[in-house]
Amino acid sequence: MDIIRLLPDMVANQIAAGEVIQRPASAVKELMENAIDAGATEIVVVIKDAGKTLIQVTDNGCGMSEADARLCFERHATSKIREAQDLYSIRTMGFRGEALASIASIAQVELKTRRREDEVGNLVLIEGSVIKSQEPCPCDYGTSILVKNVFFNVPARRNFLKADSTELSYIIEEFQRVALVHPEISFSLHSNGKQLFKVSQGTSRQRIVALFGNPYTERLVQVETESNIVNISGFIVKPEFAKRTRGEQYFFANQRFIKHPYLHHAVANAFQDLIPENTFPSYFIFLDVDPKTIDINIHPTKTEVKFEDERSLYAILRSSVKQALGKFSLTPSLDFDIERSMDFPEIRPGEAVKVPQVKTNPYFNPFDKESSGPLPGKPVRMSPQQGLEQWSKLYPQEEKAVPELTPVQNDELFPQTTIHSSLDEVPAEPAGSKYFQVNGRYILTQLKTGLMVIHQQFAHERVLYERNLQQQRAGSSNSQQLLFPQTITFSPADAGLFASILSDVCASGFDIADIGGGSFIVNGVPADFGDNPTQVILEQVLESYKDNLQHMNGNNRNRLAAAFARQMAVKPGKYLSEEEMRFLVELLFACSSPDKTPDGKKTFHIISYEELSRTFK
Ligand code: ADP
Ligand code: MG
Repeated sequence: MDIIRLLPDMVANQIAAGEVIQRPASAVKELMENAIDAGATEIVVVIKDAGKTLIQVTDNGCGMSEADARLCFERHATSKIREAQDLYSIRTMGFRGEALASIASIAQVELKTRRREDEVGNLVLIEGSVIKSQEPCPCDYGTSILVKNVFFNVPARRNFLKADSTELSYIIEEFQRVALVHPEISFSLHSNGKQLFKVSQGTSRQRIVALFGNPYTERLVQVETESNIVNISGFIVKPEFAKRTRGEQYFFANQRFIKHPYLHHAVANAFQDLIPENTFPSYFIFLDVDPKTIDINIHPTKTEVKFEDERSLYAILRSSVKQALGKFSLTPSLDFDIERSMDFPEIRPGEAVKVPQVKTNPYFNPFDKESSGPLPGKPVRMSPQQGLEQWSKLYPQEEKAVPELTPVQNDELFPQTTIHSSLDEVPAEPAGSKYFQVNGRYILTQLKTGLMVIHQQFAHERVLYERNLQQQRAGSSNSQQLLFPQTITFSPADAGLFASILSDVCASGFDIADIGGGSFIVNGVPADFGDNPTQVILEQVLESYKDNLQHMNGNNRNRLAAAFARQMAVKPGKYLSEEEMRFLVELLFACSSPDKTPDGKKTFHIISYEELSRTFK
C-alpha cells in the first residue's frame, strides 16, 4: 500500500510559518519588507499588545490588482522572481513568496489594497489559510494589511510567546533594522495608541540619530571604501562610546540586515586596543556587493548570508574601519601618512589576496595617559639597537638605591575589626612602599603569609556598590545642584527603561526630572560625581543595568547600584598614588563582602609564600 500523501496546503503553510514567522516581530519585518518592495515612500506600523492582538502595516506603494490580492496568499506566489536564474540577481527584500501565505495560515488577516490606476480597491479576508471573502472596497492607493491574533490556531506557539515587553523589544529591533537601511522612506511605529518612532526622509546619518537619539550626532564617524569586491559605507561609533552590552552592531548587505560573526570580528579587530576589554564597538555598516556573489537563501528569515569571497571582504572591511578611526585622529599613533589612499588592486578569481597592512605603534597604550611612548602622530621606526634599549626600560627601578627597611607598623592598615576573616593577617615587613601598582590595574601588597594582588577597578566597584546601597537605604545621598541644568536624551526604547528606574537613580544622588519625549533634565549630580559627562555616564549606567537585568541576581536596586559602581570605578590604566592605593584597600576591607564584585568577580588574589617557594623548586 502506498503511504505517502501530499500535505494539505494549510498544513504545509503552517510548517513554513514555523520557520518564517517565529513571533509577531517576524510578521512586522515581512510586512515592512513587502511595503518596501512595493516602492512605498511612507510606511506606518501599528501594533497592539506587542503584536499579539494586532499588527497593521500600511503603505503607499504600488498596490495589487484584484487577482493579485487573492494570489498573494498562495504559497510560492511571488511577483519578484520568475525563473531560477533570477535568484542570482535579487535586489528585492522578498522572493520566496512565503511570508503572506505563512502569516495567513496562523492569523486572521484583512488586506485592503488599491493600485493608483484603479477606481476601487479590494478587501480580502482570510483566516487560517481559508479565504472568507473578497469584495471591492473604496480605499487609498497602496496596501494596508491587518494581522489579528497571531497563532490563534496554534496554541503551543502562542503560549510560547514571551511577555509583552520582550515581544515589543523584538518588534522595535526589527523596525529599527528595516528603517536604518531605508532613510529615503518615512516610517512610524505606534504601540497601544502611543507613537514610539516617527522618522522622516533624510540622510543615513539623520536616520541613525532619529532612531538612536540626538547624542549620536557627535559620535558617528563615517566609513567609506570602494573596491571591486565590495562598496562599504556607513558609520562607526567613536571608541569612547563602546558599550558593555552588544546591541548596536548593524551590518547590511545589499540593504538587508545580516548577522555575520566573521565580519563582526573584522570590525572588532580594527577597534582592538582602543576600547576596554569586555566592551563592544557600535557600528552601522552597509555593504554593497554584486548579487551574484552573495547567497541570501541559506536561511528562511534571510539574516544569515554567505559571501563568495569572505576573506577579502574581511580584510577590506578591517582596513576601512581602521582608516576611518585613524582619519579622525581617534588613534593618534596610527601612521596613516604612509597609506593615505588605500587602493585595492583588481583581484582575479583564484588569485591569493594580499591583506592591506596598516602600520600601528606597538607601544601605544590607550589607557596609559602618561605613556612614555613616542609622540602621537609620529610613526615608530626603530632600529634593532633601539629595540633593545626599549627592553631595558622595562626595568625602570634598576639603578635606584635599595630603599631603607623600616620597622613593621602593621595594624594601622587592617584594623582587626574590619578585616575579612580569610585575611586575618597583617602586612609584614614593608620595604619603603607598602603598595605597588603594576600594569596600571593591580595593586600589590604583602601579607605575612603571602603576596596580595588587588584588582583596582573591581575593588573600587565593591566599595562604590556598598556605599550606593547604603545611601539609597538611608536616603542620605547628597546631590550637588548644577549651575546649568543639562538635558539628556535617550532613544525611545531606553527612555522608557530609564523612566522606570528614575526614582532609584535619584536616590543615588541625582536630581533628574522626566520632561517627556525621551528627554530628562539633570538639575543635580552626586557630590562625588566630578565633572564627568552626565549623558555618557548615564547611558553607560543604563547599558550596564540592562546587562545586569540579564546576568545578575538580586533586585533592581542592587542591579542599579552595581551599574553605577561599574561606571564610576577607577579604570585600568589610571595611575594611583600610594595614598590612594592605601585608601582604596582600607575601604575595600571595610566592606561587608570585600572578596567579590557585585556581579561575582574576584577583587583580590593571594599568592602564598608556600606557593611561591614551590615555584622555585
Ligand atoms: P515575497 O515578498 O517573497 O514575494 P510575500 O508572501 O511576502 O512573498 O508576498 C507575495 C506577493 O504579494 C509579493 O511578491 C507582492 O507581489 C505582493 N505583495 C505583498 N505585499 C505587498 C504590498 N504591501 N504591496 C504590493 N504588493 C504586495
Ligand atoms: Mg515578502
